[in-house]
Amino acid sequence: RIAAEAPPPGTNPLANDLASKPAAKSFRELPLSRPTLQGLEEGGYKTMKDIQRACIPHILAGRDLLGAAKTGSGKTLAFLIPVMERLFRLKWSKLDGLGGLVISPTRELAIQIFEVLRKVGKKHEMSAGLVIGGKDVGQEQERVTHMNILVCTPGRLLQHMDETYGFDACNLQVLVLDEADRILDLGFSATINSIVENLPKSRQTLLFSATLSKQVRDLARLSLKEPEYIAIHEAS
Ligand code: ADP
Ligand code: MG
Repeated sequence: RIAAEAPPPGTNPLANDLASKPAAKSFRELPLSRPTLQGLEEGGYKTMKDIQRACIPHILAGRDLLGAAKTGSGKTLAFLIPVMERLFRLKWSKLDGLGGLVISPTRELAIQIFEVLRKVGKKHEMSAGLVIGGKDVGQEQERVTHMNILVCTPGRLLQHMDETYGFDACNLQVLVLDEADRILDLGFSATINSIVENLPKSRQTLLFSATLSKQVRDLARLSLKEPEYIAIHEAS
C-alpha cells in the first residue's frame, strides 16, 4: 500500500528525469494528473511554451524557482499547473485549508490568473478563491478561510492575515510571487516581507517576473531556497 502512494515532492523520479532532459513538448508528456490534463485539453492547451517546458519539471520535482520571461510568454500556466499537481498528489481536501497562494500585483492580473485557474482546474476538486481589494472585506472573510488555493493582491492578503479570524496559512505548500518586478515597482516590498513572515518556512516558493532587476534578485534571495534560475530570452 505504501509503495502505491505518490512520492513526496522532490523525490518523484520521473519529474527529476524530465528536469535533467527537458525534451517534452506537449503537456501530455509530463507526469500530470488526469484532472489537470483534462483541464488543459478542454482549455485548448496542447504544446508547452518555452517557459512552461523549462520550469514545470523543476517545480514538479519540488524545487524553488525564479522564472523570467517577457509578458505574454505563458508564465501563468508555468506555475498554476504545478500548484494544482502538488495539492493533488498530497490528496489535498477542503479540511486541509490553504495549500497554494498566488500573489499578483494588481486586481486585473489577479482576476486573469484566477480565470485561468478556474478553466484548467475545473476537473479538480480543490477550491479556489480570489482575494483582491475593492470588494466587501466582510464578505470575503467567510470565504477565505475555506479555500485551498487563493489568488491575491498583496495589501488585501495582508489585511486578511491581520484581521480575519480563522485565516490560517500554517499548512501552506506553495507560494507564488507573480510579476515580481511589478509588485516591487508598486511599492509592495514591505507588504510582501510581512506576508512571507506569516508563512511556514517549509513551503516551496516560486517567483516569476518579466524582468530581472536587482530588486527582484534581492527578493529572490530573501524568499527562495536554493532556487533554479530559468530565463527565457526568445519570443515563444
Ligand atoms: P505571461 O504571464 O508570461 O505574461 P500568460 O500566462 O498570460 O503570459 O500567457 C499569455 C497568453 O498565452 C495567454 O493568452 C495564454 O492563454 C496563452 N498561452 C499560455 N500557454 C499556452 C500554451 N501552452 N498553448 C497555447 N497558448 C498558451
Ligand atoms: Mg503573467
